[in-house]
Amino acid sequence: MPRVGVGTDVHPFASGRPLHLAGLHWPGEVGLAGHSDGDAVAHACCDALLSAAGLGDIGGLFGTADPRWAGASGPALLEETARRVRAAGFEIGNVAVQVIGNRPKVAPRREEAEKALSAAAGAPVSVSATTTDGLGFTGRGEGVAAVATAVVWQPPKQTGMAPQAS
Ligand code: MG
Repeated sequence: MPRVGVGTDVHPFASGRPLHLAGLHWPGEVGLAGHSDGDAVAHACCDALLSAAGLGDIGGLFGTADPRWAGASGPALLEETARRVRAAGFEIGNVAVQVIGNRPKVAPRREEAEKALSAAAGAPVSVSATTTDGLGFTGRGEGVAAVATAVVWQPPKQTGMAPQAS
């Protein structure tokens, strides 16, 4: 049976940091604050995958208490997340992520972002973007939000026995 998961993430803009978002570096844009590189898009993808697999969330796996993940790139966390999801016996179907914010303008680099995130996940990641018509923290330009869904499934066991209910 396929299993769906959901993930969201938010990071505030912080001047003086480079912007890393959706697996890409965005020269000339204000960066995002965070324990890692602040890539809210990659982080939402991680949480969606973990949610689908029932493995908890990114805070539990890559918590701020663990210095190994300080400054970790979004794609690195996504690659490690995908590895753990597969290690738990799941195949990854796809991930869909939507970026919510005024900047950066995602459309011109959407396909590039999809390639970067798909390479990290080892599965198709589709990227879309929207704004909130000036409303809320993203509308005021205070930060970036991302919402993701993911589908995983457990391949049938090759034992000749009926698959166990999960
Ligand atoms: Mg995050």
